[in-house]
Amino acid sequence: MKIMKFGGTSVAHASNINKVIDIIENAQGSGPLRPSESVASEPKEKIVVVVSAMSGITDDLILLANLASKMDLKYKIVFESICGRHNQAIKELINSKNTERVLKEISKKYGELEEIVKNIFSAKELSPASLDRVMSFGEQLSSYVISEAIKGRKMQCEFVDSRKIIKTDDNFGDANVDLEKSYKLMGDHFRRDALYIMGGFIASTKDGVTTTLSRGGSDYTASLVGAALDASVIEIWTDVDGIMTEDPKKMKDALLIPEISYEKAEEMAYNGAKVIHPKTIRPAVLKSIPIYVKNTFNPEGTGTKISNANEISKN
Ligand code: ADP
Ligand code: ASP
Ligand code: MG
Repeated sequence: MKIMKFGGTSVAHASNINKVIDIIENAQGSGPLRPSESVASEPKEKIVVVVSAMSGITDDLILLANLASKMDLKYKIVFESICGRHNQAIKELINSKNTERVLKEISKKYGELEEIVKNIFSAKELSPASLDRVMSFGEQLSSYVISEAIKGRKMQCEFVDSRKIIKTDDNFGDANVDLEKSYKLMGDHFRRDALYIMGGFIASTKDGVTTTLSRGGSDYTASLVGAALDASVIEIWTDVDGIMTEDPKKMKDALLIPEISYEKAEEMAYNGAKVIHPKTIRPAVLKSIPIYVKNTFNPEGTGTKISNANEISKN
């Protein structure tokens, strides 16, 4: 079984989400359905897909919460734009007979978010707990939209609320995961050989209060799920070919690193290589699960394999 995590650019809008679903379909080995086939394909392997918020949405949510706390009515524009981006993706991804149902369902989420933001507006203050609740909507919304888009492509998949299976303390913004409790909950939840889809980054306390795992933390979620389920591989799908010698957006001659040890990858991440969140490495090391960093926009590329140094020298 494997974990596949897709980052913000990979799920930024409908056409990228379709590329993501192609990759998932390929991993399942089912291939696209012909128009005459109407039955949703059975998954052949257990796959857990972890998704980030659409790119820019987490930043927009933070802006939304801050504007509301300053009683700045411009928060309404930001709110509308967040809803607009998701509605647009739904219109492009979901077939017409399901559009209304999905729009109705997602409206409930928008209503919930609006309620929280109105409370921040009246309170004129933004607590770390409220900010986490607001930020969590990025992944709540993207994972729901993508799960419906997958179903629309005739694949069976189960939508999972990450907050029910990842438990943390109340260190809002950078919550510490209760590994024992979370691994047990995940092991119990992901029993069937099925395709599951969940949001990264978000979790909750034992009392059910929403928390987040720090910016860029969806990679960490993927690694936690991988370790909980003893996955054979954790794939981090992003917008560059893998881990490079430098940030390719800053250095045009950066080179792809095809293989790297856990230690070196962790060191690069702690030194600011944001291609992988630093906390991602530890859960994978403890279970010796290789992590592959791959490009959603060049899926044929080899990517980077992160594993332990002995394994590298054996190959
Ligand atoms: P995602 O949304 O998929 O999680 P991120 O933006 O968090 O993606 O991380 C990918 C980005 O990391 C790349 O677009 C790249 O600009 C940046 N980056 C920084 N350092 C490196 C590096 N050494 N190798 C590859 N990418 C890097
Ligand atoms: N959406 C969150 C962020 O922007 C988490 C992530 O993308 O990994 O930080
Ligand atoms: Mg990232």
